[in-house]
Amino acid sequence: MLRLLLLLALFWVIARVFWGFIEGVVRGASMPPTGGGRGSNSPRSPVKMQPCPVCGTYVVPGKAISTIKSGAPVHFCSEKCRSEYRS
Ligand SMILES: [Zn+2]
Repeated sequence: MLRLLLLLALFWVIARVFWGFIEGVVRGASMPPTGGGRGSNSPRSPVKMQPCPVCGTYVVPGKAISTIKSGAPVHFCSEKCRSEYRS
């Protein structure tokens, strides 16, 4: 009988710990820590890299050299690629 009570207590403790863990995971998933002050336009994907249309190097749009081509922004890895794209 004592063993059964101990087992029940153990299960209760495990359930409490497990539930706390699940709660923490859910809270972490629903509210991810956003990198403050990085100026990202989308909170879900902080850094969405785009390929340079000339050489294919992936660049971060916020830091890349960009130009507007028919209403849409195009991002380049370097000044050289931008001038090549224009010519
Ligand atoms: Zn390039």
